[in-house]
Amino acid sequence: MSGRFTEAELEDIKQRNPIADVAGGYTKLRRAGGRLVGACPICGGRTSSQRFEVIEKDGTWVCAVCPDGGDVIRLVEKVEGCDFLAAIERLGGRVAIDAKRQKEIFEERERKRLAREKTAADYREAERKRLFRTWKGALPIHGTLAAAYFEGRGLALPERCPGLRFLPDMKYFHGERIDDRGRKVARVIHSGPGMCGAFIRPDGKFGGLHLTWFNVQADGRVVKAEIVDPDTGEMLNAKKMRGSKTGAYILVSKALVLPRRLILGEGIETVDSVFTPWLHAGRSIEDTEFWAAGDLGNLAGRANTTIAHPSLKRPNNSPVRVPDRFPDPDDPGLAIPDSVEEMILLGDGDSEAFLTECAMERAARRYGRPGRVIRIAMAPSEADFNDVLRAA
Ligand SMILES: [Zn+2]
Repeated sequence: MSGRFTEAELEDIKQRNPIADVAGGYTKLRRAGGRLVGACPICGGRTSSQRFEVIEKDGTWVCAVCPDGGDVIRLVEKVEGCDFLAAIERLGGRVAIDAKRQKEIFEERERKRLAREKTAADYREAERKRLFRTWKGALPIHGTLAAAYFEGRGLALPERCPGLRFLPDMKYFHGERIDDRGRKVARVIHSGPGMCGAFIRPDGKFGGLHLTWFNVQADGRVVKAEIVDPDTGEMLNAKKMRGSKTGAYILVSKALVLPRRLILGEGIETVDSVFTPWLHAGRSIEDTEFWAAGDLGNLAGRANTTIAHPSLKRPNNSPVRVPDRFPDPDDPGLAIPDSVEEMILLGDGDSEAFLTECAMERAARRYGRPGRVIRIAMAPSEADFNDVLRAA
C-alpha cells in the first residue's frame, strides 16, 4: 500500500473520526463558552488553565503548552507516539472510496465550510448592528468634551461634521474575564467620555466605529485617556476601530454641493489638521470634502503584491516585505464620488517612510482617472501639515 493518500481518502478518515470523539477518548473534555477544553493528552497540561482545546468546526486541536496542534491524524500521532500511517490505521485505516462516496465526502466538507462562513458573516453582521445602535445613541459632537479636545489642540471642528459624535460614557473592552457561570466574557477595563466616528462603506451603509477615549485633566484640559492593561501595566491605545472599515471612510467635513475636491488622510486629527488652516485661509469648503480612512492600508487599498524593503531586514537577514506601489485590480478601495476632480492624499509621519510612499503611490494609481488631478502631501508629523498646505 502506497503512503500517498488522496484528498478524498484523508477527508473520509476525518469525517469517520470526529475530532471531539477521538480527543474525548484520550482526555475528559468539557464545554466552556462554546469551546471544548480539557487536560492535554500529550503534555498533561492542566484543565484549569484550559490550554488544550478542540475546535470542532475546523476539525482541529491546539495545545498552548506543547505547543502544537493539527487535525485528528496528528493528534493520534502525538498521543500514541506513532507515525502518520500507524495513526491512520488506528483511525480505521484507508477504505476504498467509490465515486458516490467521494461525492458525499466533498459535499459534506462544502456544507461545513458554508456553515462556518455563515457563522462568521452572522457574527460580523451582529457586531455591525450593535455598533450601529451605539452610533445612533451618540450625541452631536459640537459643544461636547470631544469638541473641547479638538479646540485644545488648536484644531477647528468642521461645522458640517456628520461622521463624528460624542458619547459621555463609552466602554473599553480588553481581554476576557470569567463570569459567575464560568464562561469567558469580554472584560471592561475603562469607561469614560469618548468620540465615535462612523465608517461608511462603499455601498453607503454604516460599517463600524472609530473610538477615541478622553480624560479631563485637573486644569480642565481634555486629553486622550491613559488606559492601562490591569494585567501587564502596559499602556494601551486610547483609540480603537471596531466592525469593518474595508473600503469605508469617516466623513470629517461634508461639502455643501457635490464635492469637486477630496482631502483624504489616515487619521481624523490628521485630516482636521489640514481642514483647520484651509478654513482659516478662507479657502472653499463648500465643494471640498475631508475624509479619514482609519489607516494607511484602507486609504490605499490592497496591493498587487509585496516588494522587498530597500533597507529593513528581518532577524534572519531577509528583507522586510511591504505592499507594492501598484493596486490589486480586484480591490476597488474607497468609493470616490465621480464629481471629484482633485484629490489630495495625506501621508503622515506615523508609519515607516518607504511603506507610506508605496501606499501613497498605490492610492494615486487606484483613484486616478482622466480629468482628475491627484496630489500627494507628505508630512513628517501631523502638525506639519499646516506648513505643507501654506506652501502649496
Ligand atoms: Zn499539551
